[in-house]
Amino acid sequence: MSDSLRRQLIDVAVAMNESGLNQGTSGNVSARYEDGMLITPSGMDYAGLAPEDIVFVNAEGAADGRRKPSSEWRFHLEIYRHRKEAGAVVHAHPAWCTTLACSHRPIPAFHYMVAVAGGNDIRCAEYATFGTQQLSDHVIDALRDRKACLMANHGLVCLERDLRRALALAIEVEHLAGVYGRCLELGEPVLLSDEEMARVKEKFLNYGANAQSTG
Ligand code: 13P
Ligand code: ZN
Repeated sequence: MSDSLRRQLIDVAVAMNESGLNQGTSGNVSARYEDGMLITPSGMDYAGLAPEDIVFVNAEGAADGRRKPSSEWRFHLEIYRHRKEAGAVVHAHPAWCTTLACSHRPIPAFHYMVAVAGGNDIRCAEYATFGTQQLSDHVIDALRDRKACLMANHGLVCLERDLRRALALAIEVEHLAGVYGRCLELGEPVLLSDEEMARVKEKFLNYGANAQSTG
């Protein structure tokens, strides 16, 4: 189990860069495992990773592995602690999310797909130095009732049931950030109402693989 999960983690980390979502050794990926998580090592090229380079971090934050865990292990671990539904976490520095985050701009309900992150907006977590407990606290706060948030002057973080979904959500949020960024060049876009976003969230319950009816 651990070996196949370690391989999946590497595949998703590589895909994160190949998809253009992230670059270099920025970003990090984790999956819930036993009482803690498996997480990418700090500062290593994803394409060259072997399963043994993935680090296990237990619920107390103690690392077990031949590499140092990602410097952001704190917020990954806190997400698993606070959010029982989280099975995987993807953190990246995508260009458009980071552009908005550098202006401390959340993504409002300018497009109905904003609801994929769980609500009427995608918040921007307050800035704190990378790898700190303070950053972790800000991320947990911005993720309240949401599966994604921007991180001021930094990037994006997404949680999902599994790795594949977490990467797909990150790609979707980056697309939304790109469209919103272009909208801002024309002026403030027209926003959808809270009532409309509530309708969209309701419809998402029966969308695609969740579909049980024609509604
Ligand atoms: P790591 O290489 O330590 O995972 O750090 C990358 C990063 O994005 C820090 O925020
Ligand atoms: Zn980062």
